[in-house]
Amino acid sequence: MPKDEYFNEDIETMPKEKLQALQLERLKQMVETVYNRSPFYRRLYDEAGVKPYDIRRLEDIQKLPFLEKRTVREAYPFGMVIAPRNQLLEMHSTSGTTGKPVLVFATQGDIDLWAELNARELWMTGLRPGDSLLNAYGYGLPTGGFGFHYGALKMGVLVIPTGSGQVERQIMLLNDLDVTAFCMTPSFALYVGQRARELGVEFSKKRSLRVGLFGAEPWPWSTRERIEELFGITAYDEFGMTEFLGPGMTCECRERNWMHAWADAFFCECINPETGEWVKDGEEGELVWTWLTAEGTAMVRYRSRDISALTWDDCPCGRSHPRIKAIKGRTDDAVSISGLIVFPSQVEAALVKYPDTGANFRMYIDTDPRGLDRLTLKVEVKDRTLLDNAGRVKELVEDMRESIQNTTGINPKEVELVAPDSLPRVTAGEGKTASARVEDRRKR
Ligand SMILES: [Zn+2]
Repeated sequence: MPKDEYFNEDIETMPKEKLQALQLERLKQMVETVYNRSPFYRRLYDEAGVKPYDIRRLEDIQKLPFLEKRTVREAYPFGMVIAPRNQLLEMHSTSGTTGKPVLVFATQGDIDLWAELNARELWMTGLRPGDSLLNAYGYGLPTGGFGFHYGALKMGVLVIPTGSGQVERQIMLLNDLDVTAFCMTPSFALYVGQRARELGVEFSKKRSLRVGLFGAEPWPWSTRERIEELFGITAYDEFGMTEFLGPGMTCECRERNWMHAWADAFFCECINPETGEWVKDGEEGELVWTWLTAEGTAMVRYRSRDISALTWDDCPCGRSHPRIKAIKGRTDDAVSISGLIVFPSQVEAALVKYPDTGANFRMYIDTDPRGLDRLTLKVEVKDRTLLDNAGRVKELVEDMRESIQNTTGINPKEVELVAPDSLPRVTAGEGKTASARVEDRRKR
């Protein structure tokens, strides 16, 4: 590794055992603190029959109940605060589109560590003091803009806080100031890049621009390639949640093979969303986060509803912190079958290539006599006369089973073609969610 590979070498490359020992120490302290200082947590833990002294090993975190967005709302506005009110310096909040938002209050200590974690990420993607960062994440109640802002200041990078929107001003500043890096959502980056081309600004020919950090929404590898081509940069995925003052939670290193999650600050678990149990290292599941260093607002075992995977495998970059896979989607949009997470949208994608079938399908899951999950699929055809052609139906069904197995990893027991309009209708808005497409008849 080059000598200046890390912003904070001691912590970033800390041996795994030492890092996990640090996590345990911080976890014990955190559970003790929330139990003593937050009536909300005390009630939660008393109801679950768990006490701070029950946490002796990292695995013991599983004894603690999860925080759900729903339960967190009961703590609104100050129920999860663990610092004296006069030490709270900055507040952020989720959008709260479906009820009361989740509020996060940060102390000076929180803000200092926030800056450090973001500085590590900017450094990790190749920024160095003297560079400049155009920051087109929103500056407001969500944390988007502030994390990288503080990180840039911390490591000596000029920050240009454009915030979101105003595409032509973004293009002008990126171009006129010879900016070296920028961050924004991937969809906005595509828009900015295309608009620049229309205006005759060719970023890919500018040698100053090198790095882009993108997050806040899932983006396929093809989008990454398109952004890289438009701007002539190397693009990195980063992920954070407002509830934990993200950005500054996870980011790709130069390997660009999953995102390092800062383990000195966060304990990340990956669970089966239905049983709540840990999945094996590297397997898909729902991420659950604990903020180990929080001083202002405590977040212990918060269910993110994000589908990803977690691994502690070694990374060639030398960082010992675990890595998470790019966020694949939300648990509300998925269903777990035989331990695999399946999105109705994957099935939809597998079915589009069959012109004889309509867009309407339904997934049925039940338990076979051996106790294993079994998937059956009903798919509407466009023209009911097709159903009279047994040979054609058989051929189609075999082909579809293979196609579904390829996209989801599940081999459906049966695919049945049914008449048009014989399945429950799905409206455009709910089409992505599992509840609209899946009938779960499993015995539990
Ligand atoms: Zn790495």
